[in-house]
Amino acid sequence: MSHLMTFHKILPGCEEGNHEAWRAFLKNYTPIALKLFEVYSPWTPDQRVRSWAEALRAMTVDQGTPLRGFSHQSEREFLVDLRAFLLDWMTEKLEPSRVAEDPPAPTSDSLAAMLKGLPLVHQEIAFLVLAGYSQGTLEKILRISPAMANEGLGRLRTHYAPVLERTEDRCLWPSAWIAIGHAARANQQKDCTPLRLLIRILDGQASWHEKSPAEAHRAACLRCLELWTSLLEVVAWDRQGERWSAAKVEPLLAAIPLQAQQKSKSSLLARMFGK
Ligand SMILES: [Zn+2]
Repeated sequence: MSHLMTFHKILPGCEEGNHEAWRAFLKNYTPIALKLFEVYSPWTPDQRVRSWAEALRAMTVDQGTPLRGFSHQSEREFLVDLRAFLLDWMTEKLEPSRVAEDPPAPTSDSLAAMLKGLPLVHQEIAFLVLAGYSQGTLEKILRISPAMANEGLGRLRTHYAPVLERTEDRCLWPSAWIAIGHAARANQQKDCTPLRLLIRILDGQASWHEKSPAEAHRAACLRCLELWTSLLEVVAWDRQGERWSAAKVEPLLAAIPLQAQQKSKSSLLARMFGK
């Protein structure tokens, strides 16, 4: 499906309240936001759409300050920022009581203890499964075989067996899990890997001298593991190429402060010539 407007024109256009830029934004990114809500909230499909409208309002307050804070450099960096914004925004919207008690929610500490010493790919598998992904989706996100996914689930079998039985993508403890991600993002260290380098690693463009220390670091850093898996998530959803239909975009526009509708040339001509 073609992008009529490129990413580099969408964000500046949205900041100006341009209608076409917002239509392109909503068409391209609504399916990704809704997928995020599907995994990380207990909301019904209707509630997810309402929440997206509410999040759009939150994104455009103060002359669009939150929106201006998202990366404008590349679409994937922007999607990682959008994802972090939405998860943080969800923190106050979720009811902590609506979570599974068995198995109990992981904490940053219990998660770090469980991941400790595991090969990197097994850490990625465990992290994404606890985040809420079924094995089928996990294989697509990480582009791994069922056999490899199975092997990476070893440590989860002891404490999180019910998590492994899922066939749908849904986090068992949204509030607790979002809090873990939030704490990880806030804990950036000097030697943490910048998102831009992670993208180059993903694209196979980083040299061994860049990739090797970044991976060794990530094996012991929850912040970088969270950032890396969030990149893999948004890339996987974007790859699906789902678009929100034009008819469904229009009601969402109501949530956004837009410029007064510009008169198009044709309507000006029509008025001049009385047509
Ligand atoms: Zn790090």
